[in-house]
Amino acid sequence: MNTSVSRKIHRVLPAALALALVAPLPAMADGFSDCLERLRAQAARRGISRATFDAHAARLRPDPSVLELLDTQPEFSTPIWDYLAALVDDERADDGRAMLERWRDVLQKVEERYGVDPATVVAVWGVESNYGRSLGKRPLLVSLGTLACMGRRQDYFRGEFLDTLKIIDEGHIPVERLTGSWAGAFGQTQFMPSTFLRLAVDFDGDGRRDLVDSAPDALASTANFLRKGGWKSGESWGFEVSLPPGFDTSLAGRRNRQPMSSWIARGVKLATGGPLPAGDPDRALLLPAGPRGPAFLVGRNFNVIFSYNAAESYALAIAHLSDRLRGGGGFRTPWPTDDPGLSRAGRRELQRLLIARGHDIGEADGMVGDKTRKAIAREQAALGRETDGRASQRLLESLRAAAGVGAGEGSGP
Ligand code: CA
Repeated sequence: MNTSVSRKIHRVLPAALALALVAPLPAMADGFSDCLERLRAQAARRGISRATFDAHAARLRPDPSVLELLDTQPEFSTPIWDYLAALVDDERADDGRAMLERWRDVLQKVEERYGVDPATVVAVWGVESNYGRSLGKRPLLVSLGTLACMGRRQDYFRGEFLDTLKIIDEGHIPVERLTGSWAGAFGQTQFMPSTFLRLAVDFDGDGRRDLVDSAPDALASTANFLRKGGWKSGESWGFEVSLPPGFDTSLAGRRNRQPMSSWIARGVKLATGGPLPAGDPDRALLLPAGPRGPAFLVGRNFNVIFSYNAAESYALAIAHLSDRLRGGGGFRTPWPTDDPGLSRAGRRELQRLLIARGHDIGEADGMVGDKTRKAIAREQAALGRETDGRASQRLLESLRAAAGVGAGEGSGP
């Protein structure tokens, strides 16, 4: 999915940004071969066989397009309500419930072994790879080889490149199945290669940790990741709450956990209006869209989900999808906008309308990328609106009206 680009940036950027010195680009072809040759000794020290290195690393050619992606700043920002509207739509909730049914036995065994419940595991799966359907198409060794030898984070990517060779050398996943995001996240769990080596498990018992073609391996590896991250069995990630008038919102923040008694004393209630569960562990207040939007009290398990990709919006998508898979509905408090975001079905309809109006945006696949956003901005300009490139409800309605389509008539797959 298109959101994966920005999410993967979150995954890849954290630590070393402050240290990122711009290395001079080697003269492309020769410099690249020399760089790979210098990695040979490091590969040997990691126990990677010479045959594997010769077959898969020695003659790689760089792909400069990943360097552009490494340095791309998003042209348009995405409000959290757009992000969640597409990541947690009815379609993903329905698909997830079907997956819970289909993999029930495996998920039960996974819960017995790792202590993470099926809805949470399946929600991570649904957000990371759309239940194993969106794995990324870029050859991993090409992307990571390029990033290991060029660009501003070579040290980090060198490790990931060598770890990819290790995965191949150990026979877990064939090289032609190792494709992923430009930054190297791959498989149904979208792990980086180093995460794979630390946390992937073989759960179907064939001796290989195959996060590309084995759903049981992927589900168990996700649960293992969460367990190692400190998952507390039987504890909820949190819940939506309502705040009393005049509440001091400076108390918000994922790291500011307080005893439940403190939130109760301040007048916080469940979003349903009921009292907070007094016996619950400490929780922090999350206001992802500021004081006027939905509010949540989140606990340790929310932080464990957060550690999967280091973005609160991402963790909230997984947490919310897990609730939907347990039969829950949408949030009680609306997002603070009069122009909500679109589900993937709505995005596909909007894209079909844009195509019909002559915009060259490729397929109507529900992924709102750069071309779609630029086409939207042109339509917004023509309508005299702010050109923020958002695939929003109001723009969909305007284009429907222009096409003479009533609400719902133009929707479809
Ligand atoms: Ca396996």
